[in-house]
Amino acid sequence: MTPTLSADHRELIADLSGIVSDYPYADPESTLAVLAGDAGEALGRDATSPEGSRERTGYTILLHATCWYVSSRIFSKSLFASYVQALEGLRAQSDRTACACPAGAHPADLDSEYEVEAGVSMLTEAGRAAFAEDYGLDEDELAAFDCGAFLADLADEALGRLREAHQELFGGIDVSPLDGKFLRDDDHIDIVAMQEALSRSWEDNTGPVALWSARRWLTGQLRDEERIGVFLCLWMGIDQSYGGLPPSYARDLAAALDTIDLDVTCEHPQHPWSTADSTVRSRHRAVVHLYAPDDHPDTPVPAELSARELWECPVQYAQLAREALKDLEGWRTMRGGDDEDWED
Ligand SMILES: [Zn+2]
Ligand SMILES: [Zn+2]
Repeated sequence: MTPTLSADHRELIADLSGIVSDYPYADPESTLAVLAGDAGEALGRDATSPEGSRERTGYTILLHATCWYVSSRIFSKSLFASYVQALEGLRAQSDRTACACPAGAHPADLDSEYEVEAGVSMLTEAGRAAFAEDYGLDEDELAAFDCGAFLADLADEALGRLREAHQELFGGIDVSPLDGKFLRDDDHIDIVAMQEALSRSWEDNTGPVALWSARRWLTGQLRDEERIGVFLCLWMGIDQSYGGLPPSYARDLAAALDTIDLDVTCEHPQHPWSTADSTVRSRHRAVVHLYAPDDHPDTPVPAELSARELWECPVQYAQLAREALKDLEGWRTMRGGDDEDWED
């Protein structure tokens, strides 16, 4: 009889394959939390038993295959913690010196979907038999998956990646190198340079520009005439971070937005930003014109709305802040994690 996987394990392969190929249909945060939990539970069983050894191999491969998703798609401290805990336990059970494989025998350059299939299959005897048959692996090739050195490498790589990502997602981000780019010699803020950085979308600048603006705003290191420019750079950085920024950025962005009084009124029938807001390009033109009209004569903002007083109106600030706060809310929903993960 042809060996087959259990229905549960076939479903697990399907769910995890969706996640690692970045098209999840099962909820990634809970699916991966269950996986890390199962791996942690397996650690409690006898590591020297055949079952314990199969599970060590299977879960090490699965946590390795999925760790990039935990590192870049879900902003959850508790998920990070359960991954790190399980991987450290698995790592402790993998003896790097136990390798007796011939050179080049370790499975290498595994793509994540293959790893998912391998990892789930390794958990059971039946799965292993089916996997060996599907991929035409002989006994030695199958045994290499259980090698302590191979598994230790996977666990170390996954742990390294998670630790680095944890700092990037939840730690402190240093944007002070941007001082050199955004401050002129006279200490004026170069709003045009900030706008140009935002327009270079291939450089992924939205987060750093928004964060630099927020910190400048919060420390009050800006002149009156620079306020609206810095605030619009903050706003555009947030608005154009379509995938959401992690808590390491969002904390200071939220703090800067919280300084804006939302309970304000005015008599103006219209504000300048409403005429600039239609496209990313038109916003950019409006802001660079505001700060360097000679170099950038084109602006979508009509002359009758270009008075400084209208740009500075507290109602416009409040509208912008409300929209940006909504974006930040959206990031939390999209990226998950607990509320306290988003706070200090
Ligand atoms: Zn080996
Ligand atoms: Zn107004």
